[in-house]
Amino acid sequence: MKKENRPSGSWLGDSSFTNAEPESNHKDINKYLVYEDCLLSLFQNCPLCTCPCVVKKAVRGTYLSVQQNCPNCGYNQQWNSQPLVGSTPAGDLQLSAAISFTGSSFAQVDKVLTALKVKSIDKATHQRHVRNYLDPCIYSTWQSVQSGLLQTMTSKDVVNLRGDLKADVNAKYDSYTVRDMETDNVIDVQLVQSEVGHSNGVEMEGLVRSLDFLESSGVKIDTFTTNRNRQVKKYLREEKPEVTHCYDVRHIAKDVSRKLAELGKKKGCKMIQKWQQSIVSHLHWSSQLSPSGDYTVAKWSSLLNHVHDMHDHANRLFPKCLHSPVTGHSKKWLKSGTKPSIRLQKIIQNKRLLKDVAKLSPLLQTSDIEGFHSLIRRFAPQNVAFKFRGLLCRLYLAAMHHNENKGQQRLQNEDYVQNLMDVLFEEVLTDPGRFTAKLRALPLPAALDATRETPVRDIVVSTSVVHLIGHKYPVVHLVKLT
Ligand SMILES: [Zn+2]
Ligand SMILES: [Zn+2]
Repeated sequence: MKKENRPSGSWLGDSSFTNAEPESNHKDINKYLVYEDCLLSLFQNCPLCTCPCVVKKAVRGTYLSVQQNCPNCGYNQQWNSQPLVGSTPAGDLQLSAAISFTGSSFAQVDKVLTALKVKSIDKATHQRHVRNYLDPCIYSTWQSVQSGLLQTMTSKDVVNLRGDLKADVNAKYDSYTVRDMETDNVIDVQLVQSEVGHSNGVEMEGLVRSLDFLESSGVKIDTFTTNRNRQVKKYLREEKPEVTHCYDVRHIAKDVSRKLAELGKKKGCKMIQKWQQSIVSHLHWSSQLSPSGDYTVAKWSSLLNHVHDMHDHANRLFPKCLHSPVTGHSKKWLKSGTKPSIRLQKIIQNKRLLKDVAKLSPLLQTSDIEGFHSLIRRFAPQNVAFKFRGLLCRLYLAAMHHNENKGQQRLQNEDYVQNLMDVLFEEVLTDPGRFTAKLRALPLPAALDATRETPVRDIVVSTSVVHLIGHKYPVVHLVKLT
């Protein structure tokens, strides 16, 4: 049977063609990879008299404009590859937005496009888009996302929160994240200037700012779970007596695990290695849903009997192991008075540890803090120099991505990207000034404020003289101390 003659391109088959109806909103329109010669062939001949035409092109970023003139009949037309938003090609803006909102890097995307020889924007243009439109868009979107979260939280009688420090977001900053333990949503992110060798102070700064913000927003905090930073302990005890301070079981479990590993390496203590994992699991289990700190401690301490094959305990809170009777246990039971037994007892019944165990959070700690920290690394790579507000916007992106994808292992939901695109094209680009003003109103941290808003000055103190050195004028004043 003779095959039907089809125009070139018939390999797609009829079913591959869909009605080509113009979209109303240009951000949602599909884009194609079009080869220049394929495109220009459309303009070679005059549509009226079929004579060869003079064809000129102009390229700006991702934008292409073609002019076609017919020397024979005078027909001419100008064809543009994409719509303009004001005077900016929509594709340039959307490319920048897609890179920024998905947490991709301009350098990587630029490499790919250059290898493909796809016309693209330069770095300065991208950075201008980020500054003038994208960061203001992210900031405004996060504010509405956050106010939605806060609205839900304030409608509850009490909430349980946890706070985590991430040191070295980049060379200058650390971040402090507060999450709702019930939903695992990130509800606040603070960016704190690093102090060399003083991560405790940085953690305090983030925590105080976050708690003040959440409380002033009307969130009633029942428990707040953190690591065992002493300053944090003191602050919560003295300044926030209404909040119950709990410890994150993972921080303590890590400590215990490290001590057991050390003990397992000691001479005659190898058997501890077999116990290490179950002891750490027992610590997690002791804290879960525990009705009181005393009960957690009783459950945790029962372990010492258990490893000696004793399963009844002289403690009315936890009088008996909950497991079924032990037969043919594969691990070696410990014998009282032996080196591993004495050393293990020292670890399990360490006074400071017991005090901390009493304060373990009874809530199931499902959230995976490492997961969020690696998101921060993705959205704010350490090798890219961000300014304060730009970096904060990247953290907000990470938070929005996290809140949408928490608990999902594989499929990544990118609804927040579409949401950001909508805000960008439907709101920000119609009135960018209003949005940039909002972002600029975001106060810089005090230390930064001082160096930025006033001329930079270093104060050099010698024995009796203070030199104020302005950057423009090497020596401005000599002030004698009296
Ligand atoms: Zn013509
Ligand atoms: Zn037992």
